[in-house]
Amino acid sequence: MNLIGLTRPELQAELEKLGEKPFRTKQLWHWIYWQGKTDFDEMTSLGKPLRQKLKENGYTLHRPKVLREQNSTDTTRKWLFEFDDKKTVETVYIPEEDRGAVCLSTQVGCPNGCVFCHTGSQKFTRNLTASEFVAQFMAARDSYGEWPSPAAQEIRYLSNIVVMGMGEPLLNYENVKKGLQIIMDPEGIAISRRRITLSTSGIAPMIPRIAEDLGVKLAVSLHAATNEIRDKIMPVNRKYPLEELIAACKKFQEIGGTRQYITMEYVMLDGINDSEADARELVRLVKGLAVKFNLIPFNEWNGCPFKCSPKKRIERFSALLEEKNYAAPIRVSRGQDIMAACGQLKSTVASG
Ligand code: SAH
Ligand code: SF4
Repeated sequence: MNLIGLTRPELQAELEKLGEKPFRTKQLWHWIYWQGKTDFDEMTSLGKPLRQKLKENGYTLHRPKVLREQNSTDTTRKWLFEFDDKKTVETVYIPEEDRGAVCLSTQVGCPNGCVFCHTGSQKFTRNLTASEFVAQFMAARDSYGEWPSPAAQEIRYLSNIVVMGMGEPLLNYENVKKGLQIIMDPEGIAISRRRITLSTSGIAPMIPRIAEDLGVKLAVSLHAATNEIRDKIMPVNRKYPLEELIAACKKFQEIGGTRQYITMEYVMLDGINDSEADARELVRLVKGLAVKFNLIPFNEWNGCPFKCSPKKRIERFSALLEEKNYAAPIRVSRGQDIMAACGQLKSTVASG
């Protein structure tokens, strides 16, 4: 059994099965999540008999297998990770000067089938377990040797998390919640909630839960200002139309406070959602919410019918939103040469 992904009470229950006292939980937690050890023999404070018992009872701390690692010319790194049942996901690290964000996946494939998304074009297979979700981050850390977890005041390369990889996190909420709670635990990996952003395609009823349970930042894949357009490019909108989505965002901010800006992601699709009328409609739609926009130039992939809006039109779109006092930066695409940019992730080993 992999101990990664167990909550503290669950870990304690396993130790109790071995006849161990509760204080061992804290020690073991420290070795797993702060030190990042995978070998029980290195956990010197545990004492030899316990180390022996852990090994003999088949406990492990294993990460997914790295099937492939690719490095972009812009230093973005992408892994293809394989879990015990051979299912795979992609995980990306996007470095900046003295920090960087790891983009975590939550599902193998995605059931939502947004028409512009490479992941969505792949068959949905299953949810990641909490263990797999956390182990994916730990494997990224292994890759950079960033153990033990650097203290808050030190430089951390893997400093931020964006839950924006493959899958819809709010369709696997319990596992993602548990995983993030483990990652945020101050005596382990200790990434603060302010450095974590969860992106959703708009599973409206689950959105307020993020503020209630986790307090992490929220990003919403809005991508259209009317139900008519959104229905066409994001099938999830037929279940949770814009009125419901916006109401859920309002609730999120009632709980989390309006200082907790929501990022509205907006993929720029040529001739689909990028007119001046769309920009004006967008402003009307988000009225009363504290939001900033993030305009994402559409990343093309083989077999997708869409084109990215011309640069001029994206700039104009941004200017119209900024005139109304909304931040609306245009996202700089990273890792395109290794298919690691937004919406390009897929499980297969086939290409590249
Ligand atoms: N499932 C979640 C999180 C993962 S997607 C969600 O949809 O929010 C991360 C972001 O990339 C989303 O905003 C998604 O809509 C966007 N995206 C998907 N395909 C894209 C593409 N081909 N080009 C640019 N952005 C894309
Ligand atoms: Fe799934 Fe997000 Fe891709 Fe839509 S954009 S198919 S919700 S991963």
